[in-house]
Amino acid sequence: MSELSFADLGLDPAVLEAVTAVGYETPSPIQAQSIPALLQGNHLLGVAQTGTGKTAAFALPLLSRVDASVMDPQILVLAPTRELAIQVAEAFTTYASKFRNFHVLPIYGGQDFFPQIKGLRRGAQVIVGTPGRLLDHLRKGTLKLDKLKALVLDEADEMLRMGFIDDVEAILAKTPENCQRALFSATMPPQIKKVAQTYLRDATEVKIESETRTVERIAQFVLPVYAERKLDALTRILEVEPIDAAIIFVRTKAETTLLAEKLSARGHAVAPLNGDLNQRQREQTVEDLKRGKKDIVVATDVAARGLDVPRITHVINYDVPYDTEAYIHRVGRTGRAGRNGKAILLVTPRERSWLRTLERATNSPMEPYELPSPADLQKMRIEQFESQLLGFAEDRKLAKAMAMLDEIAERNEMDMAMVAGALAVWMEAAQPGSLPLEQPEALPVVSAAPPRDRKGGRPGGKPGFKPGFKKGPKAGAGKGFKGKPAGKGGKPAGKRPPRQSDAKR
Ligand code: AMP
Repeated sequence: MSELSFADLGLDPAVLEAVTAVGYETPSPIQAQSIPALLQGNHLLGVAQTGTGKTAAFALPLLSRVDASVMDPQILVLAPTRELAIQVAEAFTTYASKFRNFHVLPIYGGQDFFPQIKGLRRGAQVIVGTPGRLLDHLRKGTLKLDKLKALVLDEADEMLRMGFIDDVEAILAKTPENCQRALFSATMPPQIKKVAQTYLRDATEVKIESETRTVERIAQFVLPVYAERKLDALTRILEVEPIDAAIIFVRTKAETTLLAEKLSARGHAVAPLNGDLNQRQREQTVEDLKRGKKDIVVATDVAARGLDVPRITHVINYDVPYDTEAYIHRVGRTGRAGRNGKAILLVTPRERSWLRTLERATNSPMEPYELPSPADLQKMRIEQFESQLLGFAEDRKLAKAMAMLDEIAERNEMDMAMVAGALAVWMEAAQPGSLPLEQPEALPVVSAAPPRDRKGGRPGGKPGFKPGFKKGPKAGAGKGFKGKPAGKGGKPAGKRPPRQSDAKR
């Protein structure tokens, strides 16, 4: 991570304000290198993959150069897939949120022409689209590029792999001669090099190097998971792993606080660690982690730099790092003082290409992380509940409670199992998810294999794996309790006695 701040880069004040609002702490390496070059109007060739922060690397400087009062397309981004086009358009919308009367329009195949034509007529300063559909609009005359100031090819090698390169070249040929151009690609196959040579002039080259280093004593695991299920996956990891202390890495300051709050509501002793805290507060958090007052810290890369707490047994990469260097630093927060450590990386389907890069950079393979099946998880939760129950069976108030319940049972002709069952259901209703009365659901399986190309082969050729979740029985009421089935509820509380704060889930 660079020491540079976004304020040092010379971005438009409105763009800077938007970035500050998103909560990015510092520019990622590709941003630190690309933003000044693009702000100067240079052409740019960026060798970097998803997850490095490349979208902001081109969006922030290019937005700083548009004339927001002109409604014609001034920035055009070509993306290989509809999903990426939407994602990049969303990023632009966020970064342009402080401009008035500003429009970003995604244009992709598979969608009706009509809303796209309507959007183009209304006017949009930024267009993000897939090559085929953009070309259709250019041919129909519904998209005009005469005011275009900048063109970006995002994930150029993917566009090549998907057979779009001719469309891409046709679009490039229609862009104004003086238009600024940037090409981003994870790899540089000859055809992409040729495009770069033909359409980029004196381009600034930015390469996010993957350094190779051995990560000793740290077992590395990867868990592919859909973005919206990351929190579920994390809470299960925290439930089943024998964690002494853990550090969880996220990308933004805001996320450190948000995630720490969510985990705290689930009963974990957790604190955020980010650049907004002053030196004293940060030192206090680290001290709390060292002394066991906190077991989990949710941190950004910058805030966790150099953190040395020997009791950290686990590093969880909740968000993928920007580059291999950041990854190596992150996982190096465990396995300290000669101990062993475990690093678990959560990757969303779009980020799967990181796997090979990280394996190469660390010189060691990543094992698929297997979450326990719902049935195993439930079994474990019941065992934990049982051991807590046995603990309370030694409580000094037990005799009084038994006498009271005996009377109630006798008066109402209930047997003791029914009384106990009703009490358990009551406890669960007061603190949903605190008792294992419902079977946890299985998280959807995501393949760790990178996307296939058109010919059906996997780029790179290394066999992927499909870490999965063993199938378990369908959800239902927990065993061992009589009476009504369990009410609605989240996940049970796991290894600890139910607490009041659990109700906040
Ligand atoms: P990308 O490589 O463009 O797909 O970006 C990956 C993710 O990183 C996105 O979710 C961005 O919101 C996030 N991101 C980009 N730049 C930064 C930054 N400087 N600080 C924190 N997060 C960032």
